[in-house]
Amino acid sequence: MKKIGVLTSGGDAPGMNAAIRAVVRTAVYKGMQVYGIRRGFNGLINGEIDQMDVKSVGEILHRGGTILNTARSDQFKTEQGMKKAVNVLKIFGIEGLVVIGGDGSFRGALDLSKRGIPTVGVPGTIDNDIACTEQTIGFDTAVNTVLEAINKIRDTVTSHERTNIIEVMGRHAGDIAIYTGIAGGAEGILIPEMPLDIDNLCRRIIEGRNRGKSSSIIILAEGAGKAMELERIIEEKTGMETRATVLGHIQRGGSPTAADIILASRMGYHAVELLQQNIGNRVVSIRGNRIVDNDIEEALTMPKKFNQELYDLAQVLSI
Ligand code: ATP
Repeated sequence: MKKIGVLTSGGDAPGMNAAIRAVVRTAVYKGMQVYGIRRGFNGLINGEIDQMDVKSVGEILHRGGTILNTARSDQFKTEQGMKKAVNVLKIFGIEGLVVIGGDGSFRGALDLSKRGIPTVGVPGTIDNDIACTEQTIGFDTAVNTVLEAINKIRDTVTSHERTNIIEVMGRHAGDIAIYTGIAGGAEGILIPEMPLDIDNLCRRIIEGRNRGKSSSIIILAEGAGKAMELERIIEEKTGMETRATVLGHIQRGGSPTAADIILASRMGYHAVELLQQNIGNRVVSIRGNRIVDNDIEEALTMPKKFNQELYDLAQVLSI
């Protein structure tokens, strides 16, 4: 393969730039031409494509977001949109594609592979909700961003002797909540994988207060409930002053951590190695600190394993 393309799609994640840089520099190193496609599959359909070189990915390692921009494209999901996308790739002579994004983006990558464009997915999403990989690009940075917020909120919560519910991202996977709950010493962690037991939570808050705790922090994954509703219910049931904080998009921004940059660099490199050998329809993953790859369809149907061990640890340490 001599000409490849790279795009970012779905929600942005810190470390996507490091992945783009790794794709571009690995391709150039291997004597391939590499094209950057702007605005995800939307840009692909519209032909928003420019050749990239070693310099075009200079000084981006430390930047959050994605220099290629990202978008969601409903048109791409239609037969007509898909045909357009394949046509554009043919016009530019692009033989293979790296798609950096989440599971929705990988469905697009699968469709392109089925239509004869070898496409490799690189998991870039803060949610860590891709089953085949132990970690996604952006997750570690998001966890550190949330931890910083928890520590700041803890100062004010302790001063006022309150309970604070902090809503974090995670519609289907509670990974951000569990990791930050442990790292931030949260008194409670509410995640979509576990049924919400309000009475048990309130009992723990009251018991904590009776033992002399001056504050309680509850981490709530967005898929497990709404912070504002919980604020009211917990205040009513415990009689303790309760506040809610929704962290929102702050979790997506910021400079990637070293761990995310290194993960993105390794995954981007591996994606190009696959394409160089004409191998497509794969998702790059990390398992046991080894970079591996899976068939996209297989990756998309794999059930995400719930990290019971970490969840149980959080319960033990939050007594
Ligand atoms: P995040 O996890 O951050 O939300 P994502 O990649 O899952 O990222 P989506 O919005 O689900 O984000 O998908 C991104 C884009 O991938 C969509 O806008 C669409 O263009 C394409 N896509 C999603 N699902 C499909 C599908 N079933 N077939 C073809 N393309 C799809």
